[in-house]
Amino acid sequence: MISQRTKFVFVTGGVVSSIGKGLAAASTGALMEARGLRVTHIKLDPYINVDPGTMSPYQHGEVYVTDDGAETDLDLGHYERFTSARLTRANNFTTGRIYDAVISKERRGEYLGATVQVIPHITDEIKARVREVAAGVDVAIVEIGGTVGDIESLPFLEAVRQLRTELGPQNTVSVHVTLVPWIAAAGELKTKPTQHSVKELLALGIQPEIVICRVDRELPLDLKRKIAHFTNVSVEAVIAATDVSCIYELPIKLHKEGLDQQLVERLNIWSRQPDLSQWKRTVEKMREPAKGSVSIALVGKYVHLRDAYKSLHESIVHGGLANDLNVVVHYVDSEELQKDTTDMDKMLGDYDAILVPGGFGDRGLEGKIKAIRYAREHNVPFFGICLGMQMAVIEFARHVCNLEGADSVEANPQAKHPVIHLMPGQRGIQDKGATMRLGAYPCQLSEGSLAARVYGTTSISERHRHRFEVNNEYRGELEKAGLRLSGLSPDQLLVEMVELPGHPYFVGCQFHPEFKSKPHAAHPLFTSFIRAAQDYSRIRPRKDDAPRATLN
Ligand code: GLN
Repeated sequence: MISQRTKFVFVTGGVVSSIGKGLAAASTGALMEARGLRVTHIKLDPYINVDPGTMSPYQHGEVYVTDDGAETDLDLGHYERFTSARLTRANNFTTGRIYDAVISKERRGEYLGATVQVIPHITDEIKARVREVAAGVDVAIVEIGGTVGDIESLPFLEAVRQLRTELGPQNTVSVHVTLVPWIAAAGELKTKPTQHSVKELLALGIQPEIVICRVDRELPLDLKRKIAHFTNVSVEAVIAATDVSCIYELPIKLHKEGLDQQLVERLNIWSRQPDLSQWKRTVEKMREPAKGSVSIALVGKYVHLRDAYKSLHESIVHGGLANDLNVVVHYVDSEELQKDTTDMDKMLGDYDAILVPGGFGDRGLEGKIKAIRYAREHNVPFFGICLGMQMAVIEFARHVCNLEGADSVEANPQAKHPVIHLMPGQRGIQDKGATMRLGAYPCQLSEGSLAARVYGTTSISERHRHRFEVNNEYRGELEKAGLRLSGLSPDQLLVEMVELPGHPYFVGCQFHPEFKSKPHAAHPLFTSFIRAAQDYSRIRPRKDDAPRATLN
């Protein structure tokens, strides 16, 4: 049962993908929350994969992990960062998951002999899930992936059409996000793609009430009028989403354009004016970081693809905000580092800290190990996340414990010293989808460790997504040589965090802290890492006499 009061905002996209539909949906959630309303977010993805867990970051960007261990679309990361909604596997589903459920029901005979069809069986399944997740909140924001006009998204849009009829006009609003391109040759903004996109939506039985236009400059009133005229919406409901210098400005911008006012009026919600002071503070800090700037080398595999490290990138920004610093992130391709001829000083000597993120497969691993060795030996602040921590353990085993041939069995199944090996629960599993250690698990930090100081507690819970772990047979040797295993699972069987006493900042974690960092509440591991980068930037050797960042 949905609460009587639950209102629905359906967000569709038009013209092209990547115009910020997810951020528009997340900002809508932020604005509703700033008005004191309880919100949740749902993302419906039209592809056939059951979840994005098996998809390459090249195809799909980051796989975001929720507390309950769902591997989800990266838009859920935006939703959790922009609102206080706690999302679960129910908040993101794909065509694949819907068909999977419907086919299972059909096999169990639950359709009582009926011919199973897209309408009503697939659409009923979609509607039931949307209603279930929306129960108990004031506003549910439902984003439909892809672009209107795609074959794949038709069942989702049909379900939206039906839901709008069932729930009534005071309980649902359709928001269409489109692009208004600037045509340089004509020196004009063009509304035609928007007109066509809304026509497509109309042909599917959905009249949008609000059109959000992504545009790279001011959208003049006469163009707003034109769009309103051709799309049957009121001119106040044509909202310009002009480019923002930082994504946390979007809720403020959309509020100024009247988005939340339009929504609450149409949904007949009585609420206060939104309190956007936190967002304003964040944007001011980002515009003018009081204490200057630090630079971080992010040594990874998907360096050409920012989306692959979305949450990580945002968490670094949050860590900067918490320290009043701007953080410049340089992506360093780990494969570039692995050549024998690489001048490591040249590649890494100009940064205030080195971060090695999570990843899969064997490409570029040796380059990561070289970067970690550089950080350890040169006292450069280092933060290793998941694969990054595993590589730090291998580096330490090889070069401090002198275990030649230390490796991860992920890269080298015949490793002489398999210091990183398969978790017992993972052995023999053949399926690739949803078979890792996924989601939130508790972790105990050792008293007096840097980790415990950073967190301000010894009991934490963090989200995981990994198959391999530190091999317990090597724990004694690693510890004897000086690696502190500062975080363990409550049963002491899994190494969750490592650190290096005596080094200014050398921290590795098996989990992904980037999934829990927020703009107004940076994750402590990112806050402390950026602070360490700031400290190091004051003392690090410089190759030239270039002036240092202006730091207090
Ligand atoms: N590939 C490693 C594992 O599966 C690390 C995973 C990650 O970095 N997310 O354990």
